[in-house]
Amino acid sequence: MTASTAAPETIQKPHKHHILGLRKSDLVEELLSIGVPEKKARYHSRQIFHWLYQRKVTTFEMMTDLSKLVRGHLAEKFQIAPLPKVFHQKSIDGTQKFLFRLYDGKTIESVLIPAEDRLTICISSQVGCAMGCKFCLTGTMGLMRNLEVYEIVGQVLELSKLETISNIVFMGMGEPLHNLENVCRAIEILLAQDALNFSKRKVTVSTSGLVSAIRKMNDRLVGESRPNLAISLNGSYDAQREEVMPVNKAFPIADLLEACRDWHLEPHRRITFEYVVLGGLNDTVEDAARVTKLLRGIPCKVNLIPYNPHDGSDYKRPEHEAVLAMHRYLLDHDIAAMIRHSRGRDILAACGQLRSAVDAVARTRPHIAIADCNDGRVIGA
Ligand code: SF4
Repeated sequence: MTASTAAPETIQKPHKHHILGLRKSDLVEELLSIGVPEKKARYHSRQIFHWLYQRKVTTFEMMTDLSKLVRGHLAEKFQIAPLPKVFHQKSIDGTQKFLFRLYDGKTIESVLIPAEDRLTICISSQVGCAMGCKFCLTGTMGLMRNLEVYEIVGQVLELSKLETISNIVFMGMGEPLHNLENVCRAIEILLAQDALNFSKRKVTVSTSGLVSAIRKMNDRLVGESRPNLAISLNGSYDAQREEVMPVNKAFPIADLLEACRDWHLEPHRRITFEYVVLGGLNDTVEDAARVTKLLRGIPCKVNLIPYNPHDGSDYKRPEHEAVLAMHRYLLDHDIAAMIRHSRGRDILAACGQLRSAVDAVARTRPHIAIADCNDGRVIGA
């Protein structure tokens, strides 16, 4: 049996709102609307968060310290259905990729990336992506739709039932800032007290460079809800960046870096610049010199990510020596830089490789175990 035979069944659009889409302030509003006094409504909102995110309950009945009236109202108006995991793959390096099925039958992917001192979840913000970055498999899908708030939060909640997650990165499918409001609300929920207890220092939003949205997020997420910012740079001058990132036509490098300079950074925090090193395109010491000049004055670090070719891609993996030379140049010129070796390459879970195409993975890489999460079978192994 292969994964390609397992056609996803369509799930009806939920007729009740999903409670995971509500921030604490939304819950307070909801409770005020049924006559709960404000002080009590605030207290109940904390209790509800505790039940949902710490006790991870799946029915309102289980929230035993809430009154029958409150439980009844919540059950009538909302649902707590977990986001269904339909496939799970594990890489030889320990990286795990999960496929979630959404109410409309579409699928998204989340990845768990273990490291010595942390476990990072890389989550999706859209089904597909409109940005069309040339090196990215998700970019070939086009945009199907934005994820709802509960679909973003649900990825973290579901995988937190399996593992203790320390960091969240919005680097899965989609351009997070193209779904700005829902991503901001999801961050407010994930960083709220009584939820999953993530520190804002452990949450990173990565963007291809939607300058107007970076500026909006700069004003929108403040205080305890403020995440780290990462920018996909991937080029050292406009014509080169434009070749791989069409977004650069609308928002050239100078505008992007101006928005970065205006990004309010708290003390000891830095902006991360991701630089996918594409063999023969942007992999020279001259590129490193231009990047150094561009980033002057911005508290930052640079991640050099050797490109992972996928089937049909136009670009090749860079020579190891070329990446080392760029790295050395950046360090010698006081830019904090790291070479980041992508994880999960054998299961297409590495940077730029996410695409909800279990069928394609099973067909092209039949040696990889693909576990059906519903019944634990391993298919296509
Ligand atoms: S790299 Fe990110 S923004 Fe670009 S196409 Fe892929 S998912 Fe979209």
